[in-house]
Amino acid sequence: MRMINLIVIHCSATRENTDYSPERLESDHKARGFLRAGYNFYIRKSGEIVDLRPLEQIPAHVRGYNKHSIGICYEGGLDASGQAQDTRTEAQKTSLIRLIQHLLTRFPDSRVCGHRDLSEDLNGDGVISPDEWSKQCPSFDAIPEYKELAYGQRKR
Ligand SMILES: [Zn+2]
Repeated sequence: MRMINLIVIHCSATRENTDYSPERLESDHKARGFLRAGYNFYIRKSGEIVDLRPLEQIPAHVRGYNKHSIGICYEGGLDASGQAQDTRTEAQKTSLIRLIQHLLTRFPDSRVCGHRDLSEDLNGDGVISPDEWSKQCPSFDAIPEYKELAYGQRKR
């Protein structure tokens, strides 16, 4: 198994009132030249967790961070008018926690963050502030939301 120290949350950047199947996601990624879907996991609005890329395979989801990371994408992230919004259903929130918890058991030294938290620190203050986000993905603040999970894991 490759070394893993980072779990990155994404959204599919599709509208909450549309369905975006894993098959469609995979074919869209193939159209961009990937061999298969770039993420390791996909979480449907129903909460279903779909395995896209085996963990031992390096995902293709954040430039410069792929090698040691895991990519999780949830279906949604845009409101009905196409604006970035946290559209996670309760089932998706539950599945995200379950999956992240499981992954932290296997890779306890991993940091959990959102895609946008890996934007470039333009003013070099060590904090990626909203004006530095190169994109909105995953449309919610993943670091504070999953902080306790990672901390709880390391405490044991
Ligand atoms: Zn993303």
